[in-house]
Amino acid sequence: MDFFQKIGNTLSNTGKDIAEKTKKLSDTSKLNSEISKQQNTINQVYSQIGKIYFEKYSNLDCSELKELCTSITEANTKIEELKKEITQIKGLTNCPNCNAEVSTSATFCGSCGNKLKEENPTV
Ligand SMILES: [Zn+2]
Repeated sequence: MDFFQKIGNTLSNTGKDIAEKTKKLSDTSKLNSEISKQQNTINQVYSQIGKIYFEKYSNLDCSELKELCTSITEANTKIEELKKEITQIKGLTNCPNCNAEVSTSATFCGSCGNKLKEENPTV
């Protein structure tokens, strides 16, 4: 094998290496995306398990989980507060009967027809 042939072999081997590495890279990214897909499934199931537990057993006295359930309750309360804030910013209020968004100036709820305020307010 002479010098130039050696160089030629080295070059074509390098090309093969790169192609193989590229293939391996695309293989690993495929596998990685499959892994994260499976992890998403696991996380979804975890949260379903948690939801079922929260709905059925949050009253049971298991201190560790009770604390976590309290966090969910607190977060839900916070969400309700934030939603109310958004409603107020939009110049709306919630119907006390059906909870639909209604204008603060509306007399009746457009959704359920509930009377929202006295028709002759004493101002
Ligand atoms: Zn209503």
